[in-house]
Amino acid sequence: MSEGLATRAIHAGELDDAHGSPHTPLYNTTTFKFRSTADLLDVVDGRKPGALYTRYGLNPTIQSLEAKLASLEGAEMAWSFCSGMAAEAALFMAHGRKGIVCLGDAYGGTLELISDQLPLLGIPGHFLLSHALSRLDEVLAKGAELVFLESPTNPTLELFDIRAISRLAHQYGARVAVDNTFASPVNQNPLALGADFVIHSCTKYLGGHSDITAGVLMGSKELLMPVWAWRKNLGSMIAPEVASLLARSIRTLPLRVRRQNATAQVIAEAMQRHPGVGRVFYPGLPDFPGHDLAKKQMKGFGGMLSIEVKGTGEDATRVADRLKLFALAPSLGGVESLVTQPCTTTHHGLTPEERARRGISDTLLRLSVGLEDADDLLADLNQALA
Ligand code: PLP
Repeated sequence: MSEGLATRAIHAGELDDAHGSPHTPLYNTTTFKFRSTADLLDVVDGRKPGALYTRYGLNPTIQSLEAKLASLEGAEMAWSFCSGMAAEAALFMAHGRKGIVCLGDAYGGTLELISDQLPLLGIPGHFLLSHALSRLDEVLAKGAELVFLESPTNPTLELFDIRAISRLAHQYGARVAVDNTFASPVNQNPLALGADFVIHSCTKYLGGHSDITAGVLMGSKELLMPVWAWRKNLGSMIAPEVASLLARSIRTLPLRVRRQNATAQVIAEAMQRHPGVGRVFYPGLPDFPGHDLAKKQMKGFGGMLSIEVKGTGEDATRVADRLKLFALAPSLGGVESLVTQPCTTTHHGLTPEERARRGISDTLLRLSVGLEDADDLLADLNQALA
């Protein structure tokens, strides 16, 4: 990883194409032919690298993407998937069967998978919010083998100390997986902080244009090899067209995310001064509870922030409905700015009491800051809050 991130985002993993294409071409191919059975067996038996069958991941477009993804996080290996949830599911099957501990708030699909579906297969799930973190020892002592967390979390941007949690989990022989979707590899590299796995929903910042659905799991070769067969036989492989689009997006990832960091900081500071706004949740604000930890473990504070509108939940809904540049839509990380009211979207399924326990008020609005001009985004927020 000696080259800078922007250089790696462009050049890492690119194949040396016989026709001189500067980027890996799209091999929109399901199977690859061989000159002889001996050549075929060399690839099948793993003696030689090569293309074989796309669902196995043995497709040059996909392999090139995975080398690029791995270089972004300083990982030895990366497996790409057809969605972020597919990456999580394969990880849980391969490394979570003795039990998974989910720390803090997480994406709704992750919570549902761990709480509703995995127990049907006999896989125990545990949930510890930050104020119960002291119970992590106890759960690990009982044999949970995988700690799963997001940092910063959705939607209150809570931070977890990845280094300290990894150290603790390793004492019990457990592994740590960090969903790094909110931060992106530009702002945080969990493997360098001691985590064993890093996951991204590439549907968000890595894809960056709200036009592809994909996921990735990264880590050491030793830990990723057992995941390969799960991906292959669950059939959760990324499509070559999507892999090619994702590689194209990653080439501008550092440029996009650094601009999103800067605009989010401007908006967070302006919202803090706005009389119609109560609390602002953004790791880049010096008085935000996670600020010091963010300075230690993040390289940038990200493009996601949340605000509490003064008034009622209905007032917050009116603000969300009045925004014009911020489109009312779930998801995040694209070039266009988005707004969601978690109590009506991502956390709608929880009871009001459970939302309150997680610090998610009805007046909370989550903003995903895009690449529009900061002045225009501020003008939009000001007119909606007026
Ligand atoms: N992780 C986070 C933080 C997410 O926000 C999401 C989706 O919103 C996922 C994982 C799941 O990703 P996907 O929709 O690509 O399956």
